Amino acid sequence: MTFDQLGLSEALLRAVREKGYTEPSPIQVQAIPAVLSGRDVMAAAQTGTGKTAGFTLPILQRLQESGPQHPHRIRALIITPTRELAAQVAESVDTYGAHLPFKSAVVFGGVKINPQIARLRKGVDILVATPGRLLDLHQQGELNFDALEILVLDEADRMLDMGFIHDIRRILKLLPAQRQNLLFSATFADEIRGLTRSILHDPLEVEVSPPNATADRVEQWVYPVDKKRKPALLRELIVDNDWQQVLVFSRTKHGANRLAQQLEKSGINAAAIHGNKSQGARTRALAGFKNGQIRVLVATDIAARGLDIAQLPQVVNFDLPNVPEDYVHRIGRTGRAGASGRAYSLVSADEIKQLNDIERVVQRHLTREYISGFEPEHELPQSAPLRKPGQNSHRHGAHKTQAGQQTARGRGSEGHKPARRRRRSRAGSAARQA
Ligand code: AMP
Repeated sequence: MTFDQLGLSEALLRAVREKGYTEPSPIQVQAIPAVLSGRDVMAAAQTGTGKTAGFTLPILQRLQESGPQHPHRIRALIITPTRELAAQVAESVDTYGAHLPFKSAVVFGGVKINPQIARLRKGVDILVATPGRLLDLHQQGELNFDALEILVLDEADRMLDMGFIHDIRRILKLLPAQRQNLLFSATFADEIRGLTRSILHDPLEVEVSPPNATADRVEQWVYPVDKKRKPALLRELIVDNDWQQVLVFSRTKHGANRLAQQLEKSGINAAAIHGNKSQGARTRALAGFKNGQIRVLVATDIAARGLDIAQLPQVVNFDLPNVPEDYVHRIGRTGRAGASGRAYSLVSADEIKQLNDIERVVQRHLTREYISGFEPEHELPQSAPLRKPGQNSHRHGAHKTQAGQQTARGRGSEGHKPARRRRRSRAGSAARQA
Protein backbone atom coordinates (compact mmCIF):
# COMPACT_ATOMS: atom_id res chain seq x y z
CA MET A 1 0.00 0.00 0.00
CA THR A 2 1.26 3.48 -0.85
CA PHE A 3 0.07 6.94 0.17
CA ASP A 4 -1.04 7.59 -3.47
CA GLN A 5 -3.45 4.67 -3.24
CA LEU A 6 -5.17 6.25 -0.27
CA GLY A 7 -6.48 9.03 -2.50
CA LEU A 8 -4.52 11.90 -1.02
CA SER A 9 -3.91 15.08 -3.01
CA GLU A 10 -0.55 15.96 -4.55
CA ALA A 11 0.08 18.70 -1.95
CA LEU A 12 -0.25 16.14 0.84
CA LEU A 13 1.73 13.44 -0.95
CA ARG A 14 4.52 15.93 -1.38
CA ALA A 15 4.54 16.77 2.33
CA VAL A 16 4.57 13.08 3.21
CA ARG A 17 7.48 12.48 0.82
CA GLU A 18 9.39 15.38 2.33
CA LYS A 19 8.85 13.90 5.76
CA GLY A 20 10.46 10.72 4.46
CA TYR A 21 7.56 8.32 4.92
CA THR A 22 7.61 5.57 2.34
CA GLU A 23 4.39 3.80 3.21
CA PRO A 24 1.36 4.44 5.40
CA SER A 25 1.24 2.79 8.80
CA PRO A 26 -1.61 0.31 9.47
CA ILE A 27 -3.73 2.90 11.29
CA GLN A 28 -3.23 5.31 8.40
CA VAL A 29 -4.30 2.68 5.86
CA GLN A 30 -7.56 2.34 7.71
CA ALA A 31 -8.19 5.80 9.10
CA ILE A 32 -7.37 7.93 6.05
CA PRO A 33 -10.08 6.48 3.75
CA ALA A 34 -12.53 6.38 6.68
CA VAL A 35 -12.06 10.09 7.41
CA LEU A 36 -12.10 10.97 3.70
CA SER A 37 -15.50 9.26 3.41
CA GLY A 38 -16.94 12.05 5.55
CA ARG A 39 -18.36 9.64 8.14
CA ASP A 40 -17.73 9.87 11.85
CA VAL A 41 -14.80 7.68 12.87
CA MET A 42 -13.86 6.02 16.09
CA ALA A 43 -10.30 4.76 16.05
CA ALA A 44 -8.43 2.69 18.60
CA ALA A 45 -4.79 3.66 18.27
CA GLN A 46 -1.98 4.54 20.57
CA THR A 47 0.78 7.07 20.32
CA GLY A 48 3.52 5.70 18.13
CA THR A 49 1.21 4.15 15.56
CA GLY A 50 1.19 7.21 13.29
CA LYS A 51 -2.34 8.14 14.37
CA THR A 52 -1.67 11.89 14.15
CA ALA A 53 -1.04 11.73 10.42
CA GLY A 54 -3.94 9.27 10.31
CA PHE A 55 -6.36 12.09 11.05
CA THR A 56 -4.36 15.18 10.04
CA LEU A 57 -3.79 14.17 6.41
CA PRO A 58 -7.42 13.40 5.57
CA ILE A 59 -8.66 16.46 7.50
CA LEU A 60 -6.41 18.68 5.40
CA GLN A 61 -7.70 16.98 2.28
CA ARG A 62 -11.35 17.43 3.30
CA LEU A 63 -10.80 21.11 4.02
CA GLN A 64 -9.08 21.45 0.66
CA GLU A 65 -12.00 19.73 -1.08
CA SER A 66 -14.74 21.68 0.62
CA GLY A 67 -13.06 24.86 -0.60
CA PRO A 68 -12.17 28.17 0.97
CA GLN A 69 -15.70 29.48 1.55
CA HIS A 70 -14.72 30.42 5.10
CA PRO A 71 -11.06 31.32 4.84
CA HIS A 72 -9.31 31.56 8.16
CA ARG A 73 -12.32 30.78 10.29
CA ILE A 74 -12.06 27.71 12.48
CA ARG A 75 -13.06 24.76 10.29
CA ALA A 76 -11.31 21.97 12.16
CA LEU A 77 -10.87 21.71 15.92
CA ILE A 78 -8.52 19.13 17.43
CA ILE A 79 -8.75 18.70 21.19
CA THR A 80 -5.98 16.93 23.09
CA PRO A 81 -5.58 16.19 26.80
CA THR A 82 -2.07 17.59 27.30
CA ARG A 83 -0.04 20.57 26.22
CA GLU A 84 2.73 18.38 24.85
CA LEU A 85 0.37 16.45 22.68
CA ALA A 86 -1.29 19.68 21.50
CA ALA A 87 2.11 21.08 20.51
CA GLN A 88 3.03 17.90 18.68
CA VAL A 89 -0.26 17.69 16.82
CA ALA A 90 0.05 21.33 15.81
CA GLU A 91 3.52 20.63 14.49
CA SER A 92 2.11 17.76 12.41
CA VAL A 93 -0.63 20.02 11.03
CA ASP A 94 2.04 22.49 9.93
CA THR A 95 4.25 19.77 8.46
CA TYR A 96 1.56 17.96 6.50
CA GLY A 97 -0.15 21.21 5.49
CA ALA A 98 3.09 22.83 4.31
CA HIS A 99 1.85 23.08 0.69
CA LEU A 100 -1.70 24.14 1.50
CA PRO A 101 -2.97 27.63 2.29
CA PHE A 102 -4.42 26.83 5.71
CA LYS A 103 -3.48 28.65 8.87
CA SER A 104 -3.27 26.75 12.11
CA ALA A 105 -2.77 27.64 15.75
CA VAL A 106 -2.33 25.83 19.02
CA VAL A 107 -3.66 27.00 22.38
CA PHE A 108 -3.05 25.46 25.80
CA GLY A 109 -2.84 26.55 29.40
CA GLY A 110 0.24 27.24 31.48
CA VAL A 111 1.45 29.98 29.17
CA LYS A 112 0.26 33.57 28.56
CA ILE A 113 -3.09 33.88 26.88
CA ASN A 114 -2.50 37.20 25.09
CA PRO A 115 -0.16 35.93 22.37
CA GLN A 116 -2.70 33.17 21.69
CA ILE A 117 -5.47 35.75 21.37
CA ALA A 118 -3.35 37.81 19.00
CA ARG A 119 -2.73 34.69 16.92
CA LEU A 120 -6.43 33.78 16.80
CA ARG A 121 -7.41 37.27 15.72
CA LYS A 122 -5.29 36.90 12.61
CA GLY A 123 -7.55 34.06 11.50
CA VAL A 124 -7.16 30.31 11.87
CA ASP A 125 -8.52 27.38 9.82
CA ILE A 126 -7.33 24.60 12.09
CA LEU A 127 -7.15 24.98 15.85
CA VAL A 128 -5.43 22.53 18.19
CA ALA A 129 -6.35 23.04 21.84
CA THR A 130 -6.48 21.63 25.32
CA PRO A 131 -9.96 21.83 26.88
CA GLY A 132 -9.39 24.36 29.69
CA ARG A 133 -7.70 27.04 27.62
CA LEU A 134 -10.20 26.55 24.83
CA LEU A 135 -13.06 27.33 27.22
CA ASP A 136 -11.18 30.34 28.65
CA LEU A 137 -10.70 31.75 25.19
CA HIS A 138 -14.32 31.17 24.34
CA GLN A 139 -15.43 32.91 27.51
CA GLN A 140 -13.35 35.88 26.50
CA GLY A 141 -15.20 35.99 23.21
CA GLU A 142 -12.17 35.05 21.13
CA LEU A 143 -13.56 31.93 19.46
CA ASN A 144 -16.31 31.41 16.96
CA PHE A 145 -17.17 27.94 15.75
CA ASP A 146 -19.90 28.80 13.24
CA ALA A 147 -17.77 27.55 10.36
CA LEU A 148 -16.63 24.35 12.09
CA GLU A 149 -16.73 21.25 9.90
CA ILE A 150 -14.61 18.68 11.76
CA LEU A 151 -14.00 17.90 15.42
CA VAL A 152 -11.24 15.56 16.61
CA LEU A 153 -10.97 14.26 20.15
CA ASP A 154 -7.47 12.87 20.42
CA GLU A 155 -6.58 10.44 23.23
CA ALA A 156 -10.16 10.57 24.44
CA ASP A 157 -9.54 7.90 27.07
CA ARG A 158 -6.90 10.09 28.64
CA MET A 159 -9.23 13.07 28.59
CA LEU A 160 -11.72 11.08 30.64
CA ASP A 161 -8.97 9.91 33.02
CA MET A 162 -7.92 13.50 33.54
CA GLY A 163 -11.47 14.56 34.38
CA PHE A 164 -12.11 16.61 31.24
CA ILE A 165 -15.52 15.12 30.57
CA HIS A 166 -17.44 18.21 31.75
CA ASP A 167 -15.20 20.51 29.75
CA ILE A 168 -15.73 18.34 26.68
CA ARG A 169 -19.49 18.46 27.11
CA ARG A 170 -19.37 22.24 27.46
CA ILE A 171 -17.25 22.50 24.33
CA LEU A 172 -19.63 20.27 22.35
CA LYS A 173 -22.46 22.69 23.11
CA LEU A 174 -20.52 25.49 21.41
CA LEU A 175 -20.18 23.62 18.12
CA PRO A 176 -22.58 23.43 15.17
CA ALA A 177 -24.60 20.20 15.24
CA GLN A 178 -23.72 19.41 11.63
CA ARG A 179 -20.09 18.31 11.67
CA GLN A 180 -17.79 15.31 11.23
CA ASN A 181 -16.55 13.79 14.48
CA LEU A 182 -13.37 11.78 14.88
CA LEU A 183 -12.52 10.15 18.17
CA PHE A 184 -9.13 8.57 18.80
CA SER A 185 -8.50 6.55 21.92
CA ALA A 186 -5.98 3.95 23.04
CA THR A 187 -8.73 1.80 24.48
CA PHE A 188 -12.44 1.47 24.11
CA ALA A 189 -13.34 0.80 27.70
CA ASP A 190 -16.98 1.20 28.74
CA GLU A 191 -16.68 4.89 29.66
CA ILE A 192 -15.31 5.67 26.20
CA ARG A 193 -18.13 3.72 24.59
CA GLY A 194 -20.56 5.92 26.53
CA LEU A 195 -18.86 9.05 25.24
CA THR A 196 -18.74 7.80 21.67
CA ARG A 197 -22.43 6.96 21.71
CA SER A 198 -23.29 10.51 22.68
CA ILE A 199 -20.92 12.18 20.21
CA LEU A 200 -20.51 10.00 17.14
CA HIS A 201 -23.20 9.28 14.58
CA ASP A 202 -23.04 5.85 13.01
CA PRO A 203 -19.24 5.79 13.22
CA LEU A 204 -16.84 3.72 11.19
CA GLU A 205 -14.68 1.76 13.60
CA VAL A 206 -10.96 1.44 13.05
CA GLU A 207 -8.67 -0.62 15.22
CA VAL A 208 -5.09 -1.67 14.65
CA SER A 209 -3.07 -2.23 17.74
CA PRO A 210 -4.71 -4.12 20.54
CA PRO A 211 -2.69 -4.08 23.78
CA ASN A 212 -1.36 -7.57 23.17
CA ALA A 213 0.31 -6.48 19.95
CA THR A 214 2.35 -3.99 21.97
CA ALA A 215 3.02 -6.51 24.68
CA ASP A 216 4.16 -9.05 22.07
CA ARG A 217 6.91 -6.92 20.62
CA VAL A 218 8.36 -5.77 23.93
CA GLU A 219 10.48 -8.01 26.13
CA GLN A 220 9.34 -7.49 29.68
CA TRP A 221 10.88 -8.25 33.03
CA VAL A 222 9.87 -7.79 36.61
CA TYR A 223 12.61 -7.16 39.16
CA PRO A 224 11.24 -7.88 42.64
CA VAL A 225 12.82 -5.43 45.08
CA ASP A 226 12.03 -3.69 48.35
CA LYS A 227 10.54 -0.26 47.89
CA LYS A 228 13.31 1.60 49.66
CA ARG A 229 15.99 -0.04 47.51
CA LYS A 230 14.45 0.89 44.17
CA PRO A 231 16.58 4.02 43.58
CA ALA A 232 19.78 2.06 44.20
CA LEU A 233 18.63 -0.77 41.92
CA LEU A 234 17.72 1.66 39.17
CA ARG A 235 21.10 3.32 39.42
CA GLU A 236 22.78 -0.07 39.28
CA LEU A 237 20.85 -1.07 36.16
CA ILE A 238 21.66 2.19 34.39
CA VAL A 239 25.37 1.99 35.19
CA ASP A 240 25.74 -1.77 34.74
CA ASN A 241 24.02 -1.81 31.38
CA ASP A 242 25.42 1.55 30.31
CA TRP A 243 21.99 2.83 29.35
CA GLN A 244 22.44 6.24 27.76
CA GLN A 245 18.82 7.21 27.20
CA VAL A 246 16.26 5.78 29.53
CA LEU A 247 12.69 6.80 30.17
CA VAL A 248 11.61 6.00 33.72
CA PHE A 249 7.97 6.08 34.75
CA SER A 250 6.83 7.25 38.13
CA ARG A 251 3.27 7.05 39.41
CA THR A 252 3.44 10.41 41.19
CA LYS A 253 4.83 13.86 40.45
CA HIS A 254 6.48 13.99 43.83
CA GLY A 255 8.09 10.60 43.27
CA ALA A 256 9.33 11.73 39.85
CA ASN A 257 10.97 14.83 41.35
CA ARG A 258 12.55 12.91 44.18
CA LEU A 259 13.94 10.21 41.92
CA ALA A 260 15.38 12.71 39.44
CA GLN A 261 17.09 14.49 42.34
CA GLN A 262 18.46 11.23 43.73
CA LEU A 263 19.88 10.27 40.35
CA GLU A 264 21.41 13.71 39.89
CA LYS A 265 23.05 13.44 43.30
CA SER A 266 24.56 10.11 42.35
CA GLY A 267 26.07 11.64 39.23
CA ILE A 268 23.53 10.62 36.60
CA ASN A 269 21.98 13.46 34.60
CA ALA A 270 18.25 13.26 35.09
CA ALA A 271 15.16 15.43 34.79
CA ALA A 272 11.55 15.02 35.82
CA ILE A 273 8.64 15.82 33.56
CA HIS A 274 5.11 16.12 34.92
CA GLY A 275 2.06 18.34 35.04
CA ASN A 276 3.35 20.68 37.75
CA LYS A 277 6.38 21.66 35.73
CA SER A 278 6.20 24.85 33.72
CA GLN A 279 5.89 24.51 29.99
CA GLY A 280 9.43 25.86 29.62
CA ALA A 281 10.86 23.31 32.04
CA ARG A 282 9.09 20.46 30.26
CA THR A 283 10.27 21.59 26.84
CA ARG A 284 13.85 21.95 28.12
CA ALA A 285 13.79 18.52 29.75
CA LEU A 286 12.49 16.88 26.59
CA ALA A 287 15.04 18.67 24.40
CA GLY A 288 17.86 17.70 26.77
CA PHE A 289 16.73 14.09 26.73
CA LYS A 290 16.56 14.02 22.95
CA ASN A 291 19.99 15.58 22.46
CA GLY A 292 21.69 13.32 25.01
CA GLN A 293 22.39 15.88 27.74
CA ILE A 294 19.87 14.22 30.00
CA ARG A 295 20.37 10.52 30.42
CA VAL A 296 17.28 9.71 32.44
CA LEU A 297 13.89 11.29 31.96
CA VAL A 298 11.54 10.52 34.83
CA ALA A 299 7.95 11.01 33.73
CA THR A 300 4.47 10.58 35.11
CA ASP A 301 2.01 8.71 32.93
CA ILE A 302 0.14 11.81 31.92
CA ALA A 303 3.24 13.80 31.03
CA ALA A 304 4.63 10.89 29.04
CA ARG A 305 1.56 10.49 26.88
CA GLY A 306 2.13 11.76 23.42
CA LEU A 307 5.80 12.59 23.92
CA ASP A 308 7.33 12.21 20.51
CA ILE A 309 10.49 10.37 21.40
CA ALA A 310 11.44 7.90 18.73
CA GLN A 311 12.51 4.32 19.35
CA LEU A 312 13.67 4.10 22.93
CA PRO A 313 15.63 0.91 23.49
CA GLN A 314 14.23 0.50 27.00
CA VAL A 315 11.83 1.91 29.52
CA VAL A 316 11.78 1.35 33.27
CA ASN A 317 8.74 1.30 35.48
CA PHE A 318 10.05 2.64 38.77
CA ASP A 319 6.66 1.78 40.13
CA LEU A 320 3.65 0.16 38.54
CA PRO A 321 0.72 2.27 37.37
CA ASN A 322 -2.64 1.91 39.09
CA VAL A 323 -4.38 1.67 35.73
CA PRO A 324 -3.13 -1.44 33.92
CA GLU A 325 -3.68 0.10 30.48
CA ASP A 326 -1.09 2.72 31.43
CA TYR A 327 1.43 -0.10 31.63
CA VAL A 328 0.70 -0.90 28.00
CA HIS A 329 1.16 2.76 27.08
CA ARG A 330 4.40 2.89 29.00
CA ILE A 331 5.96 -0.13 27.35
CA GLY A 332 4.64 1.12 24.00
CA ARG A 333 7.30 3.83 24.21
CA THR A 334 9.91 1.23 23.41
CA GLY A 335 10.33 -1.06 20.47
CA ARG A 336 8.48 1.05 17.97
CA ALA A 337 8.37 0.43 14.26
CA GLY A 338 9.17 -3.24 14.37
CA ALA A 339 12.27 -2.93 16.59
CA SER A 340 12.00 -5.01 19.72
CA GLY A 341 12.17 -3.05 22.94
CA ARG A 342 12.64 -3.90 26.57
CA ALA A 343 10.64 -2.91 29.60
CA TYR A 344 11.82 -3.41 33.16
CA SER A 345 9.54 -3.05 36.14
CA LEU A 346 10.84 -2.61 39.67
CA VAL A 347 8.12 -4.18 41.75
CA SER A 348 7.78 -4.20 45.53
CA ALA A 349 5.54 -6.52 47.54
CA ASP A 350 2.82 -3.90 48.01
CA GLU A 351 2.39 -3.67 44.23
CA ILE A 352 1.16 -7.21 43.71
CA LYS A 353 -2.37 -6.03 42.96
CA GLN A 354 -1.14 -3.73 40.18
CA LEU A 355 1.04 -6.54 38.84
CA ASN A 356 -1.90 -8.94 38.79
CA ASP A 357 -4.04 -6.38 36.95
CA ILE A 358 -1.30 -5.80 34.38
CA GLU A 359 -0.71 -9.49 33.82
CA ARG A 360 -4.42 -9.92 33.22
CA VAL A 361 -4.45 -7.13 30.63
CA VAL A 362 -1.36 -8.33 28.74
CA GLN A 363 -2.52 -11.92 29.23
CA ARG A 364 0.79 -13.29 30.38
CA HIS A 365 2.84 -13.70 33.51
CA LEU A 366 5.89 -11.47 33.32
CA THR A 367 9.28 -13.03 33.84
CA ARG A 368 10.70 -12.30 37.27
CA GLU A 369 14.41 -11.77 37.65
CA TYR A 370 16.18 -11.31 40.95
CA ILE A 371 19.21 -9.05 40.94
CA SER A 372 21.84 -10.31 43.24
CA GLY A 373 22.29 -7.96 46.17
CA PHE A 374 18.77 -6.61 45.76
CA GLU A 375 16.71 -9.63 46.73
CA PRO A 376 13.73 -8.29 48.64
CA GLU A 377 13.19 -8.83 52.35
CA HIS A 378 9.48 -8.51 51.64
CA GLU A 379 8.92 -11.18 49.01
CA LEU A 380 6.69 -10.28 46.07
CA PRO A 381 3.69 -12.60 46.40
CA GLN A 382 2.80 -15.12 43.73
CA SER A 383 0.98 -13.85 40.67
CA ALA A 384 -2.73 -14.54 40.42
CA PRO A 385 -4.13 -16.82 37.71
CA LEU A 386 -4.59 -15.16 34.33
CA ARG A 387 -8.26 -14.48 33.99
CA LYS A 388 -9.44 -12.77 30.87
CA PRO A 389 -9.75 -8.98 31.22
CA GLY A 390 -13.13 -8.16 32.74
CA GLN A 391 -13.64 -11.72 33.97
CA ASN A 392 -14.07 -11.64 37.72
CA SER A 393 -15.25 -15.01 38.83
CA HIS A 394 -12.69 -17.62 39.66
CA ARG A 395 -13.09 -20.89 37.85
CA HIS A 396 -12.14 -23.96 39.75
CA GLY A 397 -10.40 -26.98 38.43
CA ALA A 398 -8.04 -25.09 36.17
CA HIS A 399 -4.74 -26.73 35.36
CA LYS A 400 -1.47 -25.51 36.75
CA THR A 401 1.07 -23.60 34.76
CA GLN A 402 4.28 -21.71 35.42
CA ALA A 403 4.03 -18.03 36.16
CA GLY A 404 6.77 -16.30 34.24
CA GLN A 405 9.21 -18.33 32.25
CA GLN A 406 12.29 -19.56 33.99
CA THR A 407 15.08 -17.65 32.35
CA ALA A 408 18.72 -16.96 32.76
CA ARG A 409 18.99 -14.36 30.06
CA GLY A 410 22.51 -13.27 29.25
CA ARG A 411 22.64 -9.54 28.91
CA GLY A 412 25.11 -9.82 26.06
CA SER A 413 22.59 -11.48 23.81
CA GLU A 414 20.26 -8.50 24.19
CA GLY A 415 22.78 -5.81 23.51
CA HIS A 416 23.52 -5.13 27.16
CA LYS A 417 26.91 -5.05 28.69
CA PRO A 418 27.44 -8.20 30.70
CA ALA A 419 26.12 -7.53 34.15
CA ARG A 420 28.66 -6.82 36.82
CA ARG A 421 26.62 -8.63 39.42
CA ARG A 422 25.35 -12.11 39.16
CA ARG A 423 21.65 -12.24 38.44
CA ARG A 424 19.44 -14.94 39.72
CA SER A 425 16.47 -15.78 37.61
CA ARG A 426 13.56 -17.73 38.78
CA ALA A 427 9.95 -18.20 38.02
CA GLY A 428 7.96 -15.93 40.27
CA SER A 429 5.34 -18.43 41.19
CA ALA A 430 3.28 -21.27 40.04
CA ALA A 431 -0.17 -20.10 39.20
CA ARG A 432 -3.36 -21.56 37.98
CA GLN A 433 -4.41 -20.40 34.60
CA ALA A 434 -8.14 -20.00 34.37
P1 AMP B 1 2.04 9.29 16.29
O1 AMP B 1 1.50 7.94 16.61
O2 AMP B 1 1.10 10.10 15.47
O3 AMP B 1 2.51 10.00 17.54
O4 AMP B 1 3.34 9.10 15.35
C1 AMP B 1 4.46 8.43 15.82
C2 AMP B 1 5.70 8.72 14.98
O5 AMP B 1 5.61 8.03 13.73
C3 AMP B 1 5.92 10.18 14.64
O6 AMP B 1 7.28 10.48 14.89
C4 AMP B 1 5.62 10.29 13.16
O7 AMP B 1 6.41 11.30 12.55
C5 AMP B 1 5.97 8.90 12.66
N1 AMP B 1 5.18 8.47 11.48
C6 AMP B 1 3.87 8.72 11.24
N2 AMP B 1 3.48 8.13 10.09
C7 AMP B 1 4.56 7.50 9.59
C8 AMP B 1 4.78 6.71 8.39
N3 AMP B 1 3.82 6.45 7.54
N4 AMP B 1 6.02 6.21 8.22
C9 AMP B 1 7.00 6.46 9.12
N5 AMP B 1 6.86 7.19 10.24
C10 AMP B 1 5.65 7.70 10.49
